[in-house]
Amino acid sequence: MSSKYAGGCNCGAIRYEIDAEPLMAGYCQCRDCQHQSGTGHGSHIGFPRPAVKLQGKATHWEKAADSGNIATRAFCPTCGSPVYSTNSGMPDFFVVEAGSLDEPARFAPQMVVYTSSGLAWDHLDPALPRFNKMPADVRWAYFHGRRQHVLRGESGRPDNSPRCRNRG
Ligand SMILES: [Zn+2]
Ligand SMILES: [Zn+2]
Repeated sequence: MSSKYAGGCNCGAIRYEIDAEPLMAGYCQCRDCQHQSGTGHGSHIGFPRPAVKLQGKATHWEKAADSGNIATRAFCPTCGSPVYSTNSGMPDFFVVEAGSLDEPARFAPQMVVYTSSGLAWDHLDPALPRFNKMPADVRWAYFHGRRQHVLRGESGRPDNSPRCRNRG
């Protein structure tokens, strides 16, 4: 199977091609993703940024994340579709919205983050690992592409973990 992923906004003004496999994929139930998606969660796929080719000019909205880093969300100024996001703390990481893929069925979520603001009506696969917020370990795993490490439970923390470290 080709490793190439492609997608873009609803009107086609913004397009991307990615010649790499995802580092991470999952759902986010934070309030920002709820606002952006218009529903209970965002569906995100993270890729290594150097593998991404972008066409078109997105509008960017920046906001400080919990970590203090700047999260930049990019959407189409014409059709309004959210397409991708980046984070100043993870400069090598490029996150696309699963719904923006030309083949959205390829989205394979591995976890749910920010379940602390999850909604009772927003049903997601109960078998997925869940995290109260974005644990530092998960952020670290994003950065290093060590998803298997997290998913085996050696590094990821369950909901309500009191631990909050700033690693990575
Ligand atoms: Zn558009
Ligand atoms: Zn979110």
